[in-house]
Amino acid sequence: MSKVKLEYIWLDGSQPMQGLRSKTKIMDSGFSGKLKDCPNWSFDGSSTQQAEGNSSDCVLKPVFICPDADRKNAFLVMCEVLNADGTPHESNGRATVQDKSDEFWFGFEQEYTIWNPETDLPVGFPANGYPAPQGPYYCGVGTGNAVGRELVEEHLDLCLEAGLNVEGINAEVMCGQWEFQIFAKGAESAGDQIWVARYLLERTAEKYGLSINWECKPVKGDWNGSGMHANFSNSELRTANSKEKFYEICEKFRDVVDEHIAVYGHDNDQRLTGLHETAAITDFSYGVSDRGASIRIPLYTVEHDWSGYLEDRRPNSAADPYKVAARIIKTVSS
Ligand code: ADP
Ligand code: MN
Ligand code: MN
Ligand code: MN
Repeated sequence: MSKVKLEYIWLDGSQPMQGLRSKTKIMDSGFSGKLKDCPNWSFDGSSTQQAEGNSSDCVLKPVFICPDADRKNAFLVMCEVLNADGTPHESNGRATVQDKSDEFWFGFEQEYTIWNPETDLPVGFPANGYPAPQGPYYCGVGTGNAVGRELVEEHLDLCLEAGLNVEGINAEVMCGQWEFQIFAKGAESAGDQIWVARYLLERTAEKYGLSINWECKPVKGDWNGSGMHANFSNSELRTANSKEKFYEICEKFRDVVDEHIAVYGHDNDQRLTGLHETAAITDFSYGVSDRGASIRIPLYTVEHDWSGYLEDRRPNSAADPYKVAARIIKTVSS
């Protein structure tokens, strides 16, 4: 019987976006595959910008486990980082989630750009100059239109085999830019699954000699930035049957624009310009089917007699889904 590999994954202390780290723990062949049987572990926080060298141990507490189909006898174990005394580390965004229930549902649309480290440009961009202007890439097909599909498909299969609740994928507006959507009940679960999917994407890209660029505006100029639209609902929204109720909840977001932007990803001023299907970073607006609004009321909601969900379009591709979800819950519950 073979021993089992557990890949412990955590978020480091890098700024402005936290990076992913992982290391392998070997378990006996009898390992159950259950979270409760994953012990806490530790790592050297002085090498991840999470501790000083003289007291460097940080604790890894497993929070989510799923199969790792790309490796024999293996699981992926998402962890949160604790201080040696068991309190949440300051880099621990998951700990900002107050609501541990699954009252709130989230659907994150994670956009990203597949990057060629040789040219330091998106895949499909010539080393000098630009590819054809935006137009054919969104949901495109054919060589030159859809670039990076092999990696995207491999990633999708790994996510599905891991049991992540991916709801769809699509090629995006910029050449080399793609999206996956993950839906989950509960903020922690949504965050766990997005981070594991990000991990699988970066790791799969290694095989192709490519990297993943999470920046919200990787190419300046007339090229779309990358978002992570946050679709959300609670039981009130799901059963509202009232336009007024939806407007009332949207209005709650008006006075806390800064608090939201603070956790919606760095450099968002470069993306939220009012162009390229965004609202300006300083504005707050909402509207039915309005892709130029801060919060879009999806057609689904209107067609279901004003019961359904909302889409906050402001979070960007580099945002921490734990912090985004935590902030939305706080505002809606206020
Ligand atoms: P678009 O690109 O048109 O903005 P997508 O289809 O990419 O929309 O994403 C919509 C997301 O909304 C999906 O991830 C879906 O799971 C999510 N969603 C649908 N219904 C709800 C709901 N009731 N609560 C939260 N999220 C929802
Ligand atoms: Mn989408
Ligand atoms: Mn999109
Ligand atoms: Mn969207």
